[in-house]
Amino acid sequence: MPQRILEPGEIELLSNSEIPFLRLPDRASLLVDRAARLRQLANGHAMGDYLRLIAEIAEVQSWALENAPPFALPSDESLEQSRAHGMPPLGTQMHHRDPAWCDLLRRMLRRLAERTRGAQRDVIVRLDRERDELYEAQASKLLAGITLGLDMAYAPLLGAALQVYWVHLVTTLGRGHFGRIDPATVCPACGSRPVASIARIGGQESGYRYLHCSLCATEWHMVRIKCTTCESTKGIQYHGIEGGTKAVLAESCDECNTYLKILYMDRDAQVEPIADDLASTALDLLMADTGKLRSGQNLMLIHGDAED
Ligand code: FE
Ligand code: FE
Repeated sequence: MPQRILEPGEIELLSNSEIPFLRLPDRASLLVDRAARLRQLANGHAMGDYLRLIAEIAEVQSWALENAPPFALPSDESLEQSRAHGMPPLGTQMHHRDPAWCDLLRRMLRRLAERTRGAQRDVIVRLDRERDELYEAQASKLLAGITLGLDMAYAPLLGAALQVYWVHLVTTLGRGHFGRIDPATVCPACGSRPVASIARIGGQESGYRYLHCSLCATEWHMVRIKCTTCESTKGIQYHGIEGGTKAVLAESCDECNTYLKILYMDRDAQVEPIADDLASTALDLLMADTGKLRSGQNLMLIHGDAED
């Protein structure tokens, strides 16, 4: 079936209500699909071992989400306050994490330790032995995008537990609690940056572009050919690897000098934002040569170094 791809002018002609603004993650399929995509992309890939490790993590995340404890939800008062001020109700900087997420992390680490060996397993076992205080301090840095003092070996493991925690909260609260916020470039549920954007096919969202939250996996609509960082519609360019996939491109902006990857489901229906971002680091290298800065956040691979 041919897919409908709308141009920005056409999209603006439609009333906003016709485009579903939010797509909450599906608890049952999100991490199963991510793991499957990672394994698919790992075949013959230069970073195959790394992609397979992230697939193992995604499988453990899927199990952890299925068995998530009844975490405390934000109070009605705090939800009301967020609504009144146009703030993300589960904003990473304001939300008081239920300390039980640390137990969730430990359970995930133990399961992961059974499935890994060598240096990977050593890191997992070492993190398991750390105290909750370290988990909280590292989580706060990770969520605030602070790389100074962030342990790069621990980061993907902490990020994995935080993703499970936030996906649980978002899907438990439900879409009725989330709406448009300002700026439109961060997640309306948790305030995090997107990992990538995705031009979708199928259903009501067909032809529309959504930003995919790096933490809670919520997707929110943004018109195409628009900068996902500064919202400029001028100086937008698309870059791909010569002879490589056309399903993953970098969308760059001359106004703010950044780029975010965009995935096209009509070119590959299996694309998954976290997995395809990890498997396309060659595109990041290409973009580094153009001098454009990466705006996408991927908790499974922290870009930059401790001096940033
Ligand atoms: Fe989010
Ligand atoms: Fe921009």
